Amino acid sequence: MTNPTAVDTAPASASASASASRLKIGISACFMYPDPQRRSYAPKTLQYLEQSVPHWLMGGGAMPVMVPSGVGEIGPADYAEWLDGLVLHGGADLWPGSYGESPLQPEWSGDRLRDEYEIALVHAFAAAGKPVFGICRGLQLVNVAYGGTLYQDLPTQRPGPAPHRNHETFDIHYHHVVMEDNSWLSAMYTDADSYKINSIHHQGIKDLAPGFRVQARCLEDGNIEAIRRDGASYVVAVQWHPEFHTPEQGVIDDTPLLQDFLRAARARRSA
Ligand code: MN
Repeated sequence: MTNPTAVDTAPASASASASASRLKIGISACFMYPDPQRRSYAPKTLQYLEQSVPHWLMGGGAMPVMVPSGVGEIGPADYAEWLDGLVLHGGADLWPGSYGESPLQPEWSGDRLRDEYEIALVHAFAAAGKPVFGICRGLQLVNVAYGGTLYQDLPTQRPGPAPHRNHETFDIHYHHVVMEDNSWLSAMYTDADSYKINSIHHQGIKDLAPGFRVQARCLEDGNIEAIRRDGASYVVAVQWHPEFHTPEQGVIDDTPLLQDFLRAARARRSA
C-alpha cells in the first residue's frame, strides 16, 4: 500500500507551480435563454462552452476559463486585467442592430445581449493590451466591434458556388481559403496555394472594419475568412473553427495560429 498523503502531496505542489506559469485564457460564453420546452433549467439563462474550444487551448498548454457576463462591480475590465488573453467562442448570429441594420427576417435577429457582452470584452482586453482571438461568430463580432458590417444571410445576400454552412454535415463541411498576398497569414502559411477549412457560418463580413486587413478569402467565392487588426494590440479572427479540425480531415494545420496567439499573450505577460 502506498501512503496516499505522500503520493498526493508531491504532484500537487509540482502542479501548482506549473499552473502558475501557464497562460490563463478567457473564453466568451454562449447564452441559452429561458425555454419552457427545455427539461432542465427551463426558466433560467445558461452560459456555457462547447468543449472543443477549451480543449484546443489546453493542447497549447494554456489554462482556459469561461468569462461569464458581468454583474454589479465585476465586469470585463476585471477579467482583462486578470487573464492573459481572450478567445471569442462561435455560436449565434449577431443582432443586425449591432451594425446599424434591422433584421430582414425575424429568424435573423441574432443575440443582442451576447453582442453587447462580447463587444465590451473585446474592448476591455484590447485596452489592456491582451490578445484577442475570434472564432467564427467571433470574427463577425470583432469586425462589428470596430465598426464593420455583416451580411445577415449569405445564401440570399451573397449567393455563390460555395455554401458556407450545411446543417446535416455541420463541422465536416469544407471549402478552401487562399491567404491574402503580403499578409501576416500568408507569411505563416507558405507551403500551398490554398488550404481546406471547415465552414459552419450563416453570416459573413460585408464591410471590413477600419484598421483591419483581410488575411484569407474563400477560394470559391472570395468571402472574407480571416482578419487581423493593424496596430499595437493583437486582434485576430478566423471564420473557420480550428478547434474542430483533426489531422485526418486533411485540413489546414492550425497549430501556427494557436502558437502565435499564445506567444503574443506570453509577450504581454512578460512586458
Ligand atoms: Mn466559410
